Amino acid sequence: MRFANATLPDGSKHDIEVSGGRIAALLPASDAGDLDLEGALVLPPLVDGHIHLDKTLLGLPWVANQATGNRVADRIEAERKVRAARTVPESETGANLVRQVVATGTLHMRSHVDIDNQLGLKNLHEILKVRERFRDLVTIQIVAFPQSGIVRSPGTAALLDAAIAEGADLLGGLDPVGIDGDLDGHLDAIFAIAQRRGVGIDIHLHDGGEAGVAQIRAIAERTRAAGLKGKVAVSHAFALGSVPVELATRTAGLLAETGIAIMSHGPGGAAIPPIKLLREHGVRVFGGSDNIRDAWSPFGNGDMLERAMMIGYRANFRHDEELALAFDMVTKTAADVLGIEDYGLAVGGPADFVVVEAGSLAEAVATRPRRKLVVKAGRIVSKDGVLVLP
Ligand SMILES: [Zn+2]
Repeated sequence: MRFANATLPDGSKHDIEVSGGRIAALLPASDAGDLDLEGALVLPPLVDGHIHLDKTLLGLPWVANQATGNRVADRIEAERKVRAARTVPESETGANLVRQVVATGTLHMRSHVDIDNQLGLKNLHEILKVRERFRDLVTIQIVAFPQSGIVRSPGTAALLDAAIAEGADLLGGLDPVGIDGDLDGHLDAIFAIAQRRGVGIDIHLHDGGEAGVAQIRAIAERTRAAGLKGKVAVSHAFALGSVPVELATRTAGLLAETGIAIMSHGPGGAAIPPIKLLREHGVRVFGGSDNIRDAWSPFGNGDMLERAMMIGYRANFRHDEELALAFDMVTKTAADVLGIEDYGLAVGGPADFVVVEAGSLAEAVATRPRRKLVVKAGRIVSKDGVLVLP
């Protein structure tokens, strides 16, 4: 199959020859192909580096936010109420979200899945079903996420360990000081499991200011000691955006040295990490949706072009190279952090791509155009934002 007359992100015009699910050749642009793209822009697949497939209420009647305060702990409580009231399994709502994000061009994602001593491994089992169901369409990496803490939720450490044995790919964590009130207790638990099981770590860290940065530095030191260089990420890391530049810069050096990646979703109500400063120091900074239509947030739709725009908006990006940086956070760098080896628009690579009406990456981020086509392994899986699969 030949997709004719495509514009690649570097501005070059080609026909894309696809065979056996891979890009067999990039030929001079013509109008002789099986499908004329008419000069539309072809993007690599979008990557969501941080989503919560088990939390979403997508497809259900609207649920009003029930948090009584503005702290993380208040939102954890509110979610417990919503959880107790829900009757539709997480595998169903999670599938609703997967279908929606694939239609926007996301073909790889990292989903955190709640594990605590009340839920046990129930949500993991539900999301494992979703992963299996969509395995030919999308890569779903699962983080075993202790949403209720570890030290303050006895039994959770053993459940996290069991989660890895049952198919979760990474260990999660949550505000070792802010939620668990025990930096060493929290980090000891997850680093011990990660080391024993040979898996990576992705820790939610909302704690801000110098106390938050101290936790990031502790995570970096443990990463070094455990030999987990390049396998650890800190999600949110609001702290890096709320301390003096000198401390952020010193910490960036330590993050680069220990290969710790930073995830930002372009937060609406918190400091955003200094993306350009971190990247200048060699830190991988990637993007994710975080909460979508759940007990935490009424917003979100899983569209990673829109997320790149929101990150750019929050970071005060204006120039084309800055918008391209936001795009990189939801494509190449996110794929790299997730360890997706088979990624990118190149001859011999997977025939996975997204076709949009835009003149450049910068324009695609700014305008979030409709996805004309989403192609997975050479097969059109979505057209004009609508899935065309059974
Ligand atoms: Zn999250």
